[in-house]
Amino acid sequence: MSLPVCPKCHEDYTYEDGHLYVCPMCFHTWDAHSQAAAEEALITRDVNGNELQDGDDVIIAQDLKLGKDTIKQGTKVKGIRILEVEYKGHDLQGRVDGFGTLYLKSSVVKK
Ligand SMILES: [Zn+2]
Repeated sequence: MSLPVCPKCHEDYTYEDGHLYVCPMCFHTWDAHSQAAAEEALITRDVNGNELQDGDDVIIAQDLKLGKDTIKQGTKVKGIRILEVEYKGHDLQGRVDGFGTLYLKSSVVKK
């Protein structure tokens, strides 16, 4: 069985220590049993449950208020970036023509 890469630094030097996985590169340790759950938690999904990845183009699934402006449903978002750390509840960043780069929630976009 191959061991998973470190969820923190993504290096591939993981070894097992009892029920723990250990990364010698950044000294992160994690529970082997929670690995599957952790991987699932790392997946960002759109409003329809499709997996989103860096570089995807998506569309806005509902009208979004942005100050005085509204980003209309169906507006294209180019080249999204999945944020490793959420910013005020937003887990994506993407470029919208006319608005620039915006923080977005994966729950309001679809592929
Ligand atoms: Zn690591």
